[in-house]
Amino acid sequence: MNSDHDQLYDESRDQRPFANGTEGYGWFAANCETCIHDRPARHGDEGNGCPLIVLALVGRTPAQWLDGPRDENGRYSIASQYTCTEYRHEDDGPADPRPIPTPPGQGELFARDGFEGHRMLTAVPESDAARA
Ligand code: SF4
Repeated sequence: MNSDHDQLYDESRDQRPFANGTEGYGWFAANCETCIHDRPARHGDEGNGCPLIVLALVGRTPAQWLDGPRDENGRYSIASQYTCTEYRHEDDGPADPRPIPTPPGQGELFARDGFEGHRMLTAVPESDAARA
């Protein structure tokens, strides 16, 4: 996961992700408690915990949190209110190598420098959303 806190902040939405502490801590318990990105904090190294949780605690909704399923009335369960695109179970094993190597014999149309880790889904700035 990108650990540039300023970039994560800029990508996030200026919107509180949870209505109250019950929702927030319920979602953290259902998702972050087993995620590799917050494992340092669970072992006492709070300075190296998940930066997305920090964003949520200061009232921002990370761009990596996509809305989970809603029923016809817009209701959702606390555990699946969001789906975090960065979630990875702490027992999943080593991460893929970064940058992901080009397979042997495969040509490349464009240089990859500067595009590694670029997300296909990006937050729409509010100014652009208002024009749509
Ligand atoms: S990456 Fe997502 S699921 Fe994992 S600890 Fe951070 S916010 Fe929670």
